Amino acid sequence: MSRTDTIVAAATAPGRGGIGIVRLSGPKTPEIGAVLLGELPPARRAVFGRFMDGDKQPIDAGLALFFPAPHSYTGEHVLELQGHGGPVVSEALIARAIELGARRAIPGEFTQRAFLNDKLDLAQAEAIADLIDAGSREAARAAMRSLQGEFSAMIEGLTEAVIDLRTYVEAAIDFPEEEIDFLKDRELDERLEAVRTHFDAVEQSARQGRLLRDGMTVVIAGRPNAGKSSLLNRLTGYDAAIVTPIPGTTRDILRERIHIDGMPLHVLDTAGLRDASDLVEEEGIRRAHAEMRRADRVLFVIDAVADPSASAYLEERRHLPADIPVTLILNKCDLTAGIPLADTISGPPRITLSALSGHGIEVLRAHLKSCMGYHSLDTGTVSARHRHLEALARARNAVEDAARELRDTRAGELVAQQLREAQQALNEITGDFTSEDLLGRIFASFCIGK
Ligand code: GDP
Repeated sequence: MSRTDTIVAAATAPGRGGIGIVRLSGPKTPEIGAVLLGELPPARRAVFGRFMDGDKQPIDAGLALFFPAPHSYTGEHVLELQGHGGPVVSEALIARAIELGARRAIPGEFTQRAFLNDKLDLAQAEAIADLIDAGSREAARAAMRSLQGEFSAMIEGLTEAVIDLRTYVEAAIDFPEEEIDFLKDRELDERLEAVRTHFDAVEQSARQGRLLRDGMTVVIAGRPNAGKSSLLNRLTGYDAAIVTPIPGTTRDILRERIHIDGMPLHVLDTAGLRDASDLVEEEGIRRAHAEMRRADRVLFVIDAVADPSASAYLEERRHLPADIPVTLILNKCDLTAGIPLADTISGPPRITLSALSGHGIEVLRAHLKSCMGYHSLDTGTVSARHRHLEALARARNAVEDAARELRDTRAGELVAQQLREAQQALNEITGDFTSEDLLGRIFASFCIGK
């Protein structure tokens, strides 16, 4: 992949629509544009024209917009052809641009060029993909904040603080006669503490942002007929699952994606856990266990009428993944007036509700949000990814190691080395220090034409 190539792709989604935009970027853009349109439009002015094929026959007619480098999305010469939104027309325009020397863009290549030409940093480039993929208004707002550079500014602020600290320690190493004073200085401890507090604030915001993007996955498990499918339907607000009084109706996994106040919630309904009566059901139960191992939480549904002591859970619990938290759902509370429920078993949190009437569902929603530490208040959350949290954690660990070195050995070089590592981890977030491999993976997840 070379940046001297001129690339072309449809910028609008595939299919039929009011307008279809084909976009070119790269050095040959002005020349290709001049042939396609008869003459190149003036910079940044929408001009109506006909888009011609090799026989000078119009492929389509519409608006053409030329953005000369470096004032364009990619930082290169860019031409947008806004024609009629049909797949055949767009494809014919792309084919003509290829005849004239362009090549088809790979996914994310326009944005990758914008990144390589310093139009945006990596966290902002990722925010573009997050904005396009946003599943809720809250997620879109957070992505927009990151795109405008709020997350990058937080990371830069943190990086500055680490660099300050590093400079302070390195000065101590460079002027050894003063080293003892420097490294014993209370000020260094105080600065380290301030950096830690700074990390807390950024991590908190990034965690919220990641939740808005990736959300929470819960698996609904329990005995057949406990009301698992009814709970799925109640949470989604429509009949996603078939509900019958016949045990064993749900055999494969049913997946639904909803939101709780903007937090994506992936809900999986599974086959009832029992000794299977046939091979299909047995496979369903095996899949249920596999999904539980990947979930953030298991909602274990109990039929509180048939099983008020939650014995199903007590029998099943040793088969549940040990490290995935469980919430017991004591269902059918519309029928349990006067039945003492399983208050005595210690262990997981429990929620009493009726999947049929909806009573208690709000409590469950609030519980799920609080389990993930999600605040629905819009407090300036930025969008963030697993990759960012992982780099933040590495940077924080390096700062903690620096503090330990300082306390235990007072070896300035080791402290400075840890701080250098912290800085490098932070730089990975904005892309100042990132491997080609990682860049490739990030941009490959974009859609073609972006
Ligand atoms: P699953 O096998 O665990 O998925 O259970 P279903 O959701 O199919 O429900 C089994 C039966 O219990 C159906 O007849 C439901 O109508 C009934 N049921 C589910 N939840 C409730 C509830 O909260 N109250 C009452 N009274 N019946 C319920």
